[in-house]
Amino acid sequence: MKQEGNIPYKIYLEESEMPTSWYNMRADMKTKPAPLLNPGTLKPMTFEELTGVFCDDLVAQELDDDTAYVEIPEEIRSFYKMYRPSPLVRAYCLEEKLQTPAKIYYKFEGNNTSGSHKLNSAIAQAYYAKKQGLKGVTTETGAGQWGTALSMACAYLGLDCKVYMVKVSYEQKPFRREVMRTYGASVTPSPSDSTEVGRKILAEHPGTTGSLGCAISEAVEVATTNEGYRYVLGSVLNQVLLHQSVIGIETKTAMDKYGIVPDIIIGCAGGGSNLGGLIAPFMGEKLRGERDYRIIAVEPASCPSFTRGKFAYDFCDTGMICPLAKMYTLGSGFIPSPNHAGGLRFHGMSSILSQLYHDGYMEATSVEQTSVFEAAELFARTEGILPAPESAHAIRTTIDEALKCRESGEEKTILFGLTGTGYFDMVAYEKFHNGEMNDYIPTDADLQAGFDGIPKFPGNEF
Ligand SMILES: *Cc1c(COP(=O)(O)O)cnc(C)c1O
Repeated sequence: MKQEGNIPYKIYLEESEMPTSWYNMRADMKTKPAPLLNPGTLKPMTFEELTGVFCDDLVAQELDDDTAYVEIPEEIRSFYKMYRPSPLVRAYCLEEKLQTPAKIYYKFEGNNTSGSHKLNSAIAQAYYAKKQGLKGVTTETGAGQWGTALSMACAYLGLDCKVYMVKVSYEQKPFRREVMRTYGASVTPSPSDSTEVGRKILAEHPGTTGSLGCAISEAVEVATTNEGYRYVLGSVLNQVLLHQSVIGIETKTAMDKYGIVPDIIIGCAGGGSNLGGLIAPFMGEKLRGERDYRIIAVEPASCPSFTRGKFAYDFCDTGMICPLAKMYTLGSGFIPSPNHAGGLRFHGMSSILSQLYHDGYMEATSVEQTSVFEAAELFARTEGILPAPESAHAIRTTIDEALKCRESGEEKTILFGLTGTGYFDMVAYEKFHNGEMNDYIPTDADLQAGFDGIPKFPGNEF
């Protein structure tokens, strides 16, 4: 393996170099992301309205468009030290395999039991719940990464954790479920008969295997009807992007130390939290006009919010009980064809990233599932890490960009986010190996059915 000058295979920061503040991109955005709206009044959600559902300090972070640096509380910083700093890896082996002059780096967030970056926000959200004196938190989980991360954080802080897990995943991913229970969470298959909304859905659709939207509705009901509980969400929200900025700040500190400047930054985008976190300090420089970077969001062709969605106010959940967010959306009723990247199946996108994309600060591309797994397999065989299917979307686009450099001879520096590991996704790998994976891409008519469900009101033309 060739190694360049003084650049190690893995760059680890010292504990003393770890970030002490999160960075809030909104402070440097000329056009701020649009506020959440109350679906009843169509007025911006107030602090008081939001604190019925979310913790007070988190609502304050959600609404704060102006503070650039938010100090990371000491207790969260000590928790981060259990699994951070995460390594920034130079993909020397992949570069050699591709015979590319491009220099490829990835920030690896899979080095914790939950297996993804989601723990960075889970610990922050659990911390503020504890600080408020709450008994516990409720949430939903689809594929299970978020529920696992939150269970770990709640176990550490001694908080009760109630997870509503989409029934089909509950049954198909028993191992994820047991990891959550090991950390002390109660895991309920959704829809369940433990909530009013669950009973209603079960009566209307007996035998349903559930959906994320339905699990959200149950988790919100439990949080708002039980004293001492609040609801927490693992992506999409401004506060989650704020917490995830720890990924980008560590990356930038490590790169600055070695004089590395990325030309292209690539990340997969489900609700936008890992990408928003990875790009944060780089986007800050771009917004302030200090430096330019090419930034690419990668999404599945089966759930193409950025590349084929509408920029409009829409519901974040299928149950249409949550506030309206202005974002690139496929419509809250859109159900993607069964793809195997559970974390990328959300119909909408972070309002911050949506505004940045709308204003031309970043690009987006979509990739097909089989080509994603080809990239995942090549990556596993060269770099050794078994990537999560979500992360493999970023790998696919990185490989494509590196191959373009091989054609043109350009020595570009590419940075991508490797968000997690794929040990619980072996059924998807099995389907790929057996040639049973499908690449269904929604037709314009499929998408139109989703767009028809976007609420219509003056000012929400799309
Ligand atoms: C949840 C998840 C994602 C997508 O979520 P974002 O909020 O878009 O970051 C990506 N990768 C992994 C491993 C995940 O668990």
